[in-house]
Amino acid sequence: MSDKPRHFIQDIVDADLASNKWGGKVHTRFPPEPNGYLHLGHAKSIWLNSSLAKANGGKFNLRFDDTNPAKEDQEYVDSIVDDVRWMGADFGEKIHFASDYFEQMYAWAEKLVEAGKAYVCELTPEQMTEYRGTFDKPGKDSPGRGRSPKDNLDLLRRMRAGEFPAGAKTLRAKIDMTSGNINLRDPVMYRIVKAPHHRTGDTWCIYPSYDWAHGLEDSLEGITHSICTLEFENHRPLYDWFLDALGIHHPQQIEFARGNLTYTVMSKRKLLELVKGNHVRGWNDPRMPTISAARRRGIPSQALLKFWEDIGVTKQESVIDVGRLEATVRDFLNASAPRRMAVLRPLKVTITNWPAGQVEELDVVNNPEDESAGTRKVPFSGSLYIEADDFQEVPEKKFFRLAPGKEVRLRAAYFVTCTEVVKDASGAITELRCTYDPKTKGGDSPDGRKVKGTLHWVSAAHAVSAEVRLYDRLFKVEDPDAAAGNYLDHLNPRSLELLKDAKLERSLGAAAVGERFQFERVGYFCVDLDSKPGALVFNRTVPLKDSWAKAKD
Ligand code: ATP
Ligand code: MG
Repeated sequence: MSDKPRHFIQDIVDADLASNKWGGKVHTRFPPEPNGYLHLGHAKSIWLNSSLAKANGGKFNLRFDDTNPAKEDQEYVDSIVDDVRWMGADFGEKIHFASDYFEQMYAWAEKLVEAGKAYVCELTPEQMTEYRGTFDKPGKDSPGRGRSPKDNLDLLRRMRAGEFPAGAKTLRAKIDMTSGNINLRDPVMYRIVKAPHHRTGDTWCIYPSYDWAHGLEDSLEGITHSICTLEFENHRPLYDWFLDALGIHHPQQIEFARGNLTYTVMSKRKLLELVKGNHVRGWNDPRMPTISAARRRGIPSQALLKFWEDIGVTKQESVIDVGRLEATVRDFLNASAPRRMAVLRPLKVTITNWPAGQVEELDVVNNPEDESAGTRKVPFSGSLYIEADDFQEVPEKKFFRLAPGKEVRLRAAYFVTCTEVVKDASGAITELRCTYDPKTKGGDSPDGRKVKGTLHWVSAAHAVSAEVRLYDRLFKVEDPDAAAGNYLDHLNPRSLELLKDAKLERSLGAAAVGERFQFERVGYFCVDLDSKPGALVFNRTVPLKDSWAKAKD
């Protein structure tokens, strides 16, 4: 990743550094609400905020915006910390929580009440909607709006003390019921919520709204650039109003366009539905667009960071082709993933002229892109597996792999020719018999003889069995949110294909959870969390682009 990704927010930071607006400081934050796992859009925000801090010698905070106890959970806090760490973002020693500031926020609320800038309101939610007005109809005043600061203070204290039932009252900022920006029509600062909080327990029964809390959190942490997604643009006047009313440190809010991807959904509410409805096998199911799923699937964090860096930062909403992410992942893995041979749908091959019982240990290159990766020993014998679809009894046009009477190269081993096709009573092919040419050791032609196909293979007696999980896109359509009907109607029924008895070369028997490989001619794979010695499980991270075109050596 380059040192200083260029984009309009970097331009703002440059100007601020030049004018010494913040005394040379750059301090950003990533402020998730712990009400779900992080998704790939959040990864954009993590990349943006942490890279801005890093590139400009600044600081980056991880802060939980844990102001809504009804939807939040420690499980989410833990997963988010893991994910942000995994992304390599340096948030220092301390993890920040909005709930740590509840006391200070409350003191500031009293201050606004005393100054006549906030009041207690008794309207029901329905009345509040009605009183708020609409885009072309001004709002009207709540009866509480005219109450004295003294009486409001008394009511607020009693709200805090738990004297009123949930939802009975709110604290609202006294701004402007006729404002063209509806967010400024006396927004709610506190609600009565009688739910225990995952960190503060029963200490509080009033909880701050996002708009009230967010700027205070930023201010308390000395944030300079408060970067958020475009939907908060209309909330910025409110962000500014609260900080100005209190006269405290006032960061600059800057909005950018969310990161969206094709063939998925990215709202936490929908992701929660996919999990709760068992449409996937949990938040980190490799088909999910979550960060934890990407990690489990084998996507390197550097590839994810590079992807968002390449996409860049703008104010223009767009949906990025998920194929671009896959291409970036492929680039990373092509350079770094060791090559191995693995047969996903095995077909038995017997080499009839191979000396009985003989095993030859062949030296095979680990990564042609990286000489330092060296070679490994791969056993070759008279009983092998090849990929079932590398054989056609009646080869179609341009099929250059194995067929009766045809000769192919077995990667790094020998040329073999198919002499016989063995079938069972139903006519299904159960075995191929082939002869090998001893003069072609290493897969080299002795006499300029050309073969068009090169196949991967494993020695049957040495192979380790594994479950292999092939993933396709979770949805059948590019934009499930916009497609007709419910987004769940567009789930791809073939998003997961389980291959229960793949045969892998011997060396993969020792692969550890998280290790990534290129299975030659097949794709990039990663050892799944469920994998155990003797019961290996692999995820396909991404297929090889053009796998057949590249099948030659
Ligand atoms: P969602 O709307 O997807 O359910 P959220 O915005 O409610 O998520 P938060 O926990 O509030 O989730 O988000 C934390 C931070 O991540 C916010 O600053 C938010 O602007 C940013 N963020 C959320 N979604 C995206 C996205 N798709 N692209 C970039 N940043 C995002
Ligand atoms: Mg949000």
